[in-house]
Formats: sequence, C-alpha cells, structure tokens
Amino acid sequence: MNNQLSERINSVTPSATLEMAAKARELRASGKDIIGLSLGEPDFKTPDYIKEAAITAINDGYNSYTPVDGYVELKDAIITKFKRDNDLTYDRTQIVVSTGAKQALYNVAQVVLNKGDEVILPCPYWVSYSDIVKLADGVPVEVATSIDNNFKMTPQQLEAAITPKTKMIWYSSPCNPSGSIYSKEELRGLADVLKKHPQIIVVSDEIYEHINYGVTAHASMAQFEDMYDRTVTVNGVAKAFAMTGWRIGYIGAPAYIARACNKLQGQVTSGANCIAQRAVITALTESPSRVQYMIDEFKERRTLILSLLNDIEGFKCNEPEGAFYVYPDITAFFGKTFNGKVINNASDLAMYLLEEANVATVTGDAFGNGNSIRISYAAAEKEIREAVSRIKKALS
Ligand code: PMP
Ligand code: GLU
Repeated sequence: MNNQLSERINSVTPSATLEMAAKARELRASGKDIIGLSLGEPDFKTPDYIKEAAITAINDGYNSYTPVDGYVELKDAIITKFKRDNDLTYDRTQIVVSTGAKQALYNVAQVVLNKGDEVILPCPYWVSYSDIVKLADGVPVEVATSIDNNFKMTPQQLEAAITPKTKMIWYSSPCNPSGSIYSKEELRGLADVLKKHPQIIVVSDEIYEHINYGVTAHASMAQFEDMYDRTVTVNGVAKAFAMTGWRIGYIGAPAYIARACNKLQGQVTSGANCIAQRAVITALTESPSRVQYMIDEFKERRTLILSLLNDIEGFKCNEPEGAFYVYPDITAFFGKTFNGKVINNASDLAMYLLEEANVATVTGDAFGNGNSIRISYAAAEKEIREAVSRIKKALS
C-alpha cells in the first residue's frame, strides 16, 4: 500500500549506513561470517564512570519528563564544555539537547528551511544530510571535492555554489566519511566568502571533535565573531564517549533558532531520555582526557588499515586526520570483472565485497561521492586484519 504514503516519505532514501548494518546483521543471523565495517560505531563499551552516573540517576528516582530542551544541569555542563573545548560562549537560551545529533540536525533543518531553500553540502557529506534537508522541503546542492584536495571545499567552490536561494551550508569537521579536518585558516577562508552573503546560516557538525589524530587542531566556525550569530554548532556524545545507543546530541545556536528547536521538539519527542541526560552530565563534565585511550586505539587502527589497504592495488587512500573512517578512491576497479561480477560503480564494489568477501562497507554514493567506498575502522584489530585480507583476496 505504498500509494497511501506521503510524497514526503516516498522521496526519502533510507539511511545507507543503517541499511548496510541491518543487511550485515541479517546475513550474520543466517550463519554467514560477516565482518561489519559499515557502521560508524565504536566497538568500545561506554566508560564505567558514565554508566555509574546513569545507575545513580535511576536509583535517585529520575523518571519524569525533563525540560523539553534538556535538564538545566546538562545545559550548564554543555555550556562549560563549549567554553573549555571550543572557546565558545553560550547561555542557557542557546542550548537544546536532543535525541542524538541526528535529531538536532533534523530540528535545525525543520525550523530554518522553507520550500526550495538551497543547502550547500560539500561532498562527501554525512549520509543523512541530504535526506534531512529534503524532509524540510530544502534542496541539497552538492559541491564536489576530490581526494587531491583532501576532500575539502575551497572558498572559490563555495562562492560558485551560492545562489540567491542559498539558505544554509552544512559540513562536518572532522568529516564523516573522509576524516578531513578544516583548519582555522581554511574555515576563515570560507567565512570570508560567507561574509558577503549574510543570509546564509552555517551548520557545523563537530560530533567527531575529540577523535582527532593531532595533525590539524579542531576549530569551530562560531569562534569567528562575524560568524557566531549565524552558526549552529552541533555536537553529541555518541562517538568519542562510545554512547551511540544512549541517543544524546545537542546544539549551541543563536537563541531564536534554539527557541524554535525547543518548540518543535516539544511537539515531537518532549525531550531526550532522562537517564541518558544525567549520564551525559558526567560525560561532559569530566575531562575529555578520560576517553583518550579510545582515541589512541583508533589512531593505531588507522595506521594499520591504511598500510593494509595501500598494499592492495587500486585503493587510493587519503590520510584521515580524524573520525574513524577511510574513504579510498576505488575508481581503478571500475570496468573490471572479478569472479564473473562486473564492477561499474562504488555500489557494485560494496555489494561485491559483502557477497564475496563477507565484509560490509558503505558505497560512496550514499555520501554524494561515487568514487569511493567508506570503511569504518572502529572495529577490533583482528577484524580489520581479517577484513582487509578478505578484500585483497576478492580483488586479486
Ligand atoms: N553527524 C555525523 C557526522 C555523524 O557521523 C553522526 C553519526 N552518528 C551523526 C551526526 C548522528 O549522531 P547521533 O548518533 O548522535 O545521532
Ligand atoms: N553516523 C554513523 C555512520 O555514519 C551511524 C549511522 C547513522 O547514524 O546513520 O555510520
């Protein structure tokens, strides 16, 4: 009965990352030995000090609705975090806590975009951006980048993409899927272009902020005085704190945008889960150095997977500076046949690797760049070694 569904939902593509993860789960349940490198999910457990805060909250009787935009204590912890880590000053009217950074992004699109408003998305972009924009009747405008520029958009490219309909620009830094990080100077270059277009609002998705391997320091667009009033800084605890399932994300934003997100959320979820919010107070109040052990481990895995992939002819990797993905250019395989299967594009390759090597990755098409596949290395070293060895065999 698809015809009874709205045009809105019929126009949306399912999340490719979640779909691939579901497919891997299904194949595993049917007895196949699938290695999942598709989902951006740390294989670590949530640290004990955060779990204990949640247990205490349960025992202390936290069970009621919370303020729609989050507990005051959590907002204060977020304000302190923004000051401590990003030198950003927000007050309570500028903070909204949501059910994951994904909902935070969804809220912002819903409250800012009108039908036909254009949103610039430097490619590759995180899988859900384009559909979240479409769900708000916005029009994604993809700006291609290439591995030769480390998948970063230049000020000239930004300028060329701006039209009278441009309302927003969305990017993540560190970037999912490329791992690239915009330096402060590079952000300033983009900001100089935006200065001439004061109607454009920036969404700076910084959820991988702490997963940074030390080459380029993290910088926030809102740190520039002339961008502060038109930037929404998005962050969350899923990645650096190994809390994907707890579902807490947040924004620091101009107060009028935060107020609108609060209004929307009040009609949709009534606010994020109370126990998870209490746990996140602890996660954000404690020093980020307490989760450094996970980042150190990701860094080692990055070195490992890069050396293994670079050993396979046809994979061209950039060196990711943050997050936990590699995004190799795989165009060298296009037009080639392996075990009777022709590889014409990135989706063919991802599907071939799933079926032939039993390794789940994600096609670059999902990120607006069909020359690559995304491989997550948030998996154990043993799994990474086995997966790449299977990939090598399937492509030899
Ligand atoms: N932004 C980016 C760049 C992501 O990779 C993710 C993936 N989790 C999100 C937002 C959404 O995060 P959350 O799990 O907090 O909804
Ligand atoms: N952000 C993760 C990823 O890109 C989790 C999946 C999702 O939220 O879509 O794999």
